[in-house]
Amino acid sequence: MIKFTLACDEGHEFEAWFSSSDAYDEQRTEGLVACAACGSVAVDKALMTPMIASPDRARQEVAREAIMQSWREWSKKVASQAEHVGPQFAEEARKIHYGEVEERAIVGEASFGDMRELGEEGICVIPLAPDPSKTGH
Ligand SMILES: [Zn+2]
Repeated sequence: MIKFTLACDEGHEFEAWFSSSDAYDEQRTEGLVACAACGSVAVDKALMTPMIASPDRARQEVAREAIMQSWREWSKKVASQAEHVGPQFAEEARKIHYGEVEERAIVGEASFGDMRELGEEGICVIPLAPDPSKTGH
């Protein structure tokens, strides 16, 4: 038996047991795997946050640097495709969430408090890597 953490299209996460990975694929394709919370059959394996545990400090440092590097690259790409709204970020994110303005990707500045409040309102906010060219201001 194998246990998977699954998530439906509504964002519910739940765990389910399968006899094998193939059995999971088969049952999912046939629509036999349903969300425990809402019954949706649009489920997929939940994305896991990659974690690193290594007793080797040097290797940890290398791994951390690799993650930071890809995070920076991803952030740059995302930022180049989104509209920059600066300190209006939280306000603008709410307007988009509540359908008051056109839906689009935005990038801006927000405090941790803002991020927590947005999260509580069900608004998805992902932190970008700090821009090295902007540090020290
Ligand atoms: Zn669900």
